[in-house]
Amino acid sequence: MTGNESRVQAIYEITNREPIAVKTPEKLEDLWASNVFSLSKMQASLPKDIFKSLKKTIQTRQKLDPSVADNVASAMRDWAISKGAMYYAHVFYPLTGGTAEKHDGFIEPQSNGDVISEFAGKLLIQGEPDGSSFPNGGIRDTFEARGYTGWDVTSPAYILETEQGATLCIPTVFVSWTGEALDKKTPLLRSMSVVDKAANRMLKLLGNTEVAPVGSSCGAEQEYFLVDSNFANTRPDILLAGRTLFGRSPAKGQQFDDHYFGAIPSRVQAYMHAVEEKLYKLGIPAKTSHNEVAPGQFEIAPVYESANVASDHQQMIMTTLRDTAKEHGFVCLLHEKPFAGINGSGKHVNWSIGNSTQGNLLDPGDTPEENLQFLAFCGAVIRGVHLYGPLMRAVIASASNDHRLGANEAPPAIMSVYLGSQLEDIFNQIKDGDLKGSSYKGQMQLGVDTLPPLTKDAGDRNRTSPFAFTGNRFEFRAVGSSQSVSGPLITLNTMMADSLNWIADQIESKSDGGDIGVTVQAVLKEVMDKHGAAVFGGNGYSDEWHKEAVEQRGLRNIPTTADALPFLQDPIVKQLFTSTGVLSATELESRYEVYAEQYILSIDVEAKLMVDMAKTLIYPAALRYLNETAGAIANLSDVGISMDKSQLEKVASLAKALLDTANELDSSIARHDFGTSEDHMKFCADTIRGQMDKVRAAADGLEGEVADDLWPLPTYEEMLFIK
Ligand code: ADP
Ligand code: MG
Repeated sequence: MTGNESRVQAIYEITNREPIAVKTPEKLEDLWASNVFSLSKMQASLPKDIFKSLKKTIQTRQKLDPSVADNVASAMRDWAISKGAMYYAHVFYPLTGGTAEKHDGFIEPQSNGDVISEFAGKLLIQGEPDGSSFPNGGIRDTFEARGYTGWDVTSPAYILETEQGATLCIPTVFVSWTGEALDKKTPLLRSMSVVDKAANRMLKLLGNTEVAPVGSSCGAEQEYFLVDSNFANTRPDILLAGRTLFGRSPAKGQQFDDHYFGAIPSRVQAYMHAVEEKLYKLGIPAKTSHNEVAPGQFEIAPVYESANVASDHQQMIMTTLRDTAKEHGFVCLLHEKPFAGINGSGKHVNWSIGNSTQGNLLDPGDTPEENLQFLAFCGAVIRGVHLYGPLMRAVIASASNDHRLGANEAPPAIMSVYLGSQLEDIFNQIKDGDLKGSSYKGQMQLGVDTLPPLTKDAGDRNRTSPFAFTGNRFEFRAVGSSQSVSGPLITLNTMMADSLNWIADQIESKSDGGDIGVTVQAVLKEVMDKHGAAVFGGNGYSDEWHKEAVEQRGLRNIPTTADALPFLQDPIVKQLFTSTGVLSATELESRYEVYAEQYILSIDVEAKLMVDMAKTLIYPAALRYLNETAGAIANLSDVGISMDKSQLEKVASLAKALLDTANELDSSIARHDFGTSEDHMKFCADTIRGQMDKVRAAADGLEGEVADDLWPLPTYEEMLFIK
């Protein structure tokens, strides 16, 4: 097909699409967690003592007693086979941020030639996928490519139904033969125990005698775009890069604001129902919902869960969104910025820590003793954000998230923490050494029965902050829509543990056996003196903040991934991870290498694609148009009508610019003479990105001039508004 025939065909297909019949939904109680080997299913199928031992491991993260594995494996297999599963898979989370699986059959060949269905405990506990194709940042030499998967007892096994059949999926960690983490789950689990220990210490120091294990929780809000697959299939950029590399802004964008919470088209509604049904079967409490700010953009948010389970579930949500979209004739874009000039997509990671004895430790509550506790934990967050802000920026750094951060629609690339006016005021009073309480009624001291209850103010929100307190949790708003939530959660847990330990050390050394409230207040004053610069409640998008943050407060503005990732090598970050044991120096270094390589690779892929599309799709369209127009002008001149040639000249010069800039980009891509990954990243950020912008400017310019029936790519208008 030439010119816009493929576009016309796509629109024809879409407008004549058979509506997908909306099934009557199954009853929620039949659906809910029906594909999960849950605690209640274990209880029903396991001997009592074995169930008890397993439950203890799950709930208190104690070491698994290997002798229970055979029993559990056989119960799990029987359940899986009863659900139609023929295979099992160890599911793991490599550093690419994706999800990987190693499939195996339940059958075991016998010496007499028969096969029996077999799933021994050792197969449940450990697997050995061929790990050589996963990035490891130099941890494994190529001759020792072995990686091992190990059952994560704390995340439930489940059945995944696909067109190929049903598979029993077992969430696992993925480590090298020397025990180094090659995945995102291992350090997440480590960070959870580290924050548990530190929080326990703090709670005991504050006088609690009974303290249950402390867990961290996560509820992640996922934004995404839906584009009809007929359009997506004719756009190589959407197919290969997950975003549009070209495209002129539509006359009607989101400026009309009629999309936000607008009516959801019935096709999208059918899609959302299908997604929800699949997730409910997997025990994922997710609700797809309203239209987001941009046309074609939507959101799905599960109810918060233990960070580890939430993280596994988040990966499943992303997979389910993508797979279900295909069944419904859509392509689901999880990219942070699929359309230039249109709002991007984020993933707000809501995070808190708590336990069954003290409850949510980030809940201000309404009793004074809890306030003391709350302020200590909140103070730990403030210190963490200030000390490790650049690390927070580094763990959300990616080529795609760079398009979004700091773009006046998403949080700035400066890490600060928003507390809300009431809390900010209280912490400022602590800093002034003159805590009067939030109502200013007389002199107060932080301690038993002196501080009035803080009122929760859910309405108090700041959309411009990268990290905001939202009543009983912090919301990390700068996380990108396509990213794994593990990195951010590992960082939050670890920096929290570090700060809690620091505060506990200070309390212990300052305490004279007197009122602990006075001591805590003194330590929190020190926290505010040293780290209060990270607390910011104003407009994070404003130019004034960018100036103030850097010039007066000494915070760092870290605009690109190339600037951010090197912080993973910063001594303070190394100290944080190695002292807590969450990542060894080698593991941290390998992560830096892998993420740097991914950044370079994704820019490389996009740049190559851009050159291809510019030369093989857009430039030819421009030439056809020029040829046609020039011919028409010449013909008219023959009959004595003289036409203005300025349009011809304009298009010719844009076409020339397109070719020149594409060639320039092409020669930059060919460069490989970089001493370090950091140099190569900088070249991508400083040179390639800029050159890509130039190619795009020429192409988008042409889109506004070239005859529509010659234009080869579906337009923004078409992709965003035709459903
Ligand atoms: P928003 O107003 O930001 O859209 P929602 O009410 O939709 O907020 O909740 C956002 C997410 O925060 C949900 O996943 C929710 O479960 C989660 N959340 C609520 N309370 C907590 C908590 N204490 N810890 C972690 N996540 C939480
Ligand atoms: Mg939110």
